[in-house]
Amino acid sequence: MSCSPAELKRKSDEFFDKWNACKAHPGIDGFVEFAVAVSSFTEFLDAKGLPGLHQSARAVEQQVLSLLDRWNGDSLPAVSEAELDSQIEDFRTRISAFLEENNDPNPERRLHQEAEVFSDLLPAKKIWLVTSTPEAWNEVVTQAGYFNIQVEVCGPHYDKQSTQEPTIVLVDAKGLESTAFIVRVQALRGRFSASSIIGLQLPADFDGLKLALRVGCDYCFPQGTAQSVIMARIVKLCSSEEEPPYRVLVVEDSKTATAMIQRTLKESAIESMAISRPQEVLTALVKFQPDLVLMDMYMPGCTGVEVTRVIRQHEEFLSTPVVYLSADTSIALQVDALRLGGDHFLTKPFNPVILNAVVKSKIDRYRILRRSMYLDSLTGLLNHTTSKQRLDAAVAAAVADGTPLCVAMIDIDHFKRVNDTYGHPMGDQVIRSVAWLLKQRLRKTDAVGRYGGEEFVVILPQANAERARNLLDRIRIDFSHFSHPVKNTAFACTFSCGIAQLAPGVSPQDLIKQADTALYEAKRKGRNQIVGG
Ligand code: GH3
Ligand code: MG
Ligand code: MG
Ligand code: MG
Repeated sequence: MSCSPAELKRKSDEFFDKWNACKAHPGIDGFVEFAVAVSSFTEFLDAKGLPGLHQSARAVEQQVLSLLDRWNGDSLPAVSEAELDSQIEDFRTRISAFLEENNDPNPERRLHQEAEVFSDLLPAKKIWLVTSTPEAWNEVVTQAGYFNIQVEVCGPHYDKQSTQEPTIVLVDAKGLESTAFIVRVQALRGRFSASSIIGLQLPADFDGLKLALRVGCDYCFPQGTAQSVIMARIVKLCSSEEEPPYRVLVVEDSKTATAMIQRTLKESAIESMAISRPQEVLTALVKFQPDLVLMDMYMPGCTGVEVTRVIRQHEEFLSTPVVYLSADTSIALQVDALRLGGDHFLTKPFNPVILNAVVKSKIDRYRILRRSMYLDSLTGLLNHTTSKQRLDAAVAAAVADGTPLCVAMIDIDHFKRVNDTYGHPMGDQVIRSVAWLLKQRLRKTDAVGRYGGEEFVVILPQANAERARNLLDRIRIDFSHFSHPVKNTAFACTFSCGIAQLAPGVSPQDLIKQADTALYEAKRKGRNQIVGG
């Protein structure tokens, strides 16, 4: 869970207040407002990593949307309201139980947890593995340990008392009748609100997977899935990278429309900035750096399409999504608007649930596109260009603040042999494992990039050489113990590392060169070691 119990409490109180307000003032307007609140609370629970609560919220959302769809007359029929009310009450009970379990009144423990974030190692994530064949998962358990993930193997009798929810519960379907698997998943889903549930060794047929997802699995892996693929999902779910909030620029001349749009966006925690004069669009884009533009169609002196065409003349905003909002329902106009650089067309008066859903899905796709521009596709680390940019920024910040900064270059030892002996895909897997290990074990403020084929750069702000060396040496030792499974056997691999600390007057390029020279020295001295620092 990446939100505090206090934040969850506040959000859920707001949500239940909205339901009470909706009941007090029956009518379509209030119900639409409540629908927006359900949808935004559902998304909040998803974003905050609370899959159990998210699934309950989604069930409420589905119910509300279907009632909205069938709406006729002035108010909700009494029967429907009573049904919805009882569903919402169950949801409220579930959240209260969760809050009670997670409210940690011990300030010492909280302080300790916060302090750990600043230590070299992030606190270990705990996950459960419910299986009747634990020996089949030995490699996964050991590998996870190196990524700072503790796997508790539970056996079929998993009903142990636990005060803390595991980040993930892996449920192995091997040796289970499908109904027994379903009962097990349902029980775990009912018990854990924040854990992701992953089904393993499922039959690969459509109906089996559909059912597993329906009863509460968040992800499913059919029989025969490589353990490295499962490991990749575990590592991803355990890494606590949070997405920044969505940002929308509203270009709209009407004050009333602007207020309504911004209010709707705010319901879904979307940040927005509004301008009423189209001439200000470029300045606003540069200043606010939005993920999407919501564009009015008719403004004084110019149309939304013209504004979009001006935006598209600038390379950096070529792919920023533009969604039009217009009261004009003419098909010809809409087609033209899309042809000339727009991405979507919504008609006014807009449905708030649809508006937020369109905005978010467009932004999600845009972010995936942008990510592929600055991240390395094999490892998810910064790519070469972004690593260099990040280093430039880190050097500038260290010089300005007068704080220490270290750079490390890492290169896998005898990597050609891995490719030659086990094949290129296995080589890729080794590269990935170094990447995961570095990402899991470094601080959020550190940066890790894939500098070349099997070469990595690590940027450690606020770290002197001694600290950098201690930290990376632990990672080096752990990696050397790492066992890479291949067919019925496994092999080990090592890396060498060179460290350089920033000295006055040294440029980012020279710092990299110094780290590279140290790396070369580590190779020359026999590999599997660190030089510098
Ligand atoms: P050393 O200990 O001196 O570093 O020996 P080495 O074998 O690792 O030597 P070198 O660094 O020169 O070899 C790098 C090899 O990595 C050569 C190249 O074929 C391979 N390689 C580069 N990129 C990739 C990749 O993306 N995937 C795989 N599987 N191999 C790659
Ligand atoms: Mg207008
Ligand atoms: Mg190498
Ligand atoms: Mg190399």
